Amino acid sequence: MKEKEIIEKLEDIEEQLRFYQQLGADFLVLPDRPAGGERPAGGLIGLKNEPENQIVQSGEWEKLLQRIKGCRFCPLFQGRTQAVPGEGNYQAKLMFVGEAPGRDEDLQGRPFVGRAGQLLTKIIEAMGFKRQEVYIANVVKCRPPENRTPRPDEVKACSIYLLSQIDLINPKVIVALGKIAAEFFLQANKSMSEIRGHFGQFKDIPVMPTFHPSYLVRNEGNREIKRLVWEDMKKVMKLLESS
Ligand code: SF4
Repeated sequence: MKEKEIIEKLEDIEEQLRFYQQLGADFLVLPDRPAGGERPAGGLIGLKNEPENQIVQSGEWEKLLQRIKGCRFCPLFQGRTQAVPGEGNYQAKLMFVGEAPGRDEDLQGRPFVGRAGQLLTKIIEAMGFKRQEVYIANVVKCRPPENRTPRPDEVKACSIYLLSQIDLINPKVIVALGKIAAEFFLQANKSMSEIRGHFGQFKDIPVMPTFHPSYLVRNEGNREIKRLVWEDMKKVMKLLESS
């Protein structure tokens, strides 16, 4: 094996161990990255993270957010504390899309802030990003009662908002978290186990379906699921690096 291949292999192993550690595998003790050796968040894969490209409140965004917050297009508005439009960098190259807000998100008005959200943040950081450098949203913007799965009519009613967000951001890659998001983008009526790990296409944007972080939380001790998610995220990172 050539020296370059060995180094790549070692880096790969280190990334994977770091990912497991981020997900709570405390038995792993990894050395801190050497000074100057840290992957610049977003830098390696060309995220536009210059100050002028950080979160900006453009008129279009402001209008969109206000419309979502006051929306009554579907019955879900009746049970919400507040709508959860999404958050992050409006010029992100990487976008994560989940299913719907849960209880914590509904209370705080922010996506992915509960246990599953904390896990998603760790995944994002393991990929070399800061959370605020990507964009995070859900297919539907209001919490369904008892966290039930959103119905097709609710998804359809709310889709205008997610489509507008995607149009405004124009990300290089979308990660679809869980079945509802995967179905929204890929119209694939298959199980997550079948479709995860394979890029699909939404308009011209590659979409990587992977397990929802809440599935990881529910299967906390299952290392195989963590490994599969990390394999999916490595493909995303590789695509971003080459784009
Ligand atoms: S879920 Fe979407 S469509 Fe339904 S009320 Fe909330 S913002 Fe409007």
